[in-house]
Amino acid sequence: MEEQKKKIKKPLGFARLIPKKCIACGARCEVECKPLAITMNDVGEPIIDLEKCTGCRRCLKVCPVDALEMYFTPEQLKQLEEWELARKASATAPQAAEVRPVEEETKAAAKFKEYSGVWVYVEQTDGKPAIVSGSYWGPGPI
Ligand code: SF4
Ligand code: SF4
Repeated sequence: MEEQKKKIKKPLGFARLIPKKCIACGARCEVECKPLAITMNDVGEPIIDLEKCTGCRRCLKVCPVDALEMYFTPEQLKQLEEWELARKASATAPQAAEVRPVEEETKAAAKFKEYSGVWVYVEQTDGKPAIVSGSYWGPGPI
């Protein structure tokens, strides 16, 4: 149960170079990589150190020819699948505020019964009740 509750972290993947796409623009990707995961080879193409890559995608954004892409390891793909399932499950699960305990529902229904047959007239402007209305709110005569 505790295991199920554990939050699954979305894997970010790693950047990689798409073969033959780099135009050696002057190391824009290297400059943009804050964790210093990129070094350039002797023809001006990036070499990405996976130990340092955080999957931030900054290098992808600055590359003028879209020569970089993200990829996921098999472990990350599995984790991504689990993350997606957990996300869908939490999206469809009723929120705590929406789930009213049966006991609470019963109490509310009983309370409303006390007021059956009571008519309430409230002066309103643009959907807002007039201030004086509050003076008349209270249990109705039984
Ligand atoms: S994804 Fe981020 S950390 Fe990884 S190589 Fe690109 S800029 Fe560097
Ligand atoms: S930003 Fe793109 S074109 Fe420039 S060096 Fe990096 S991969 Fe090559």
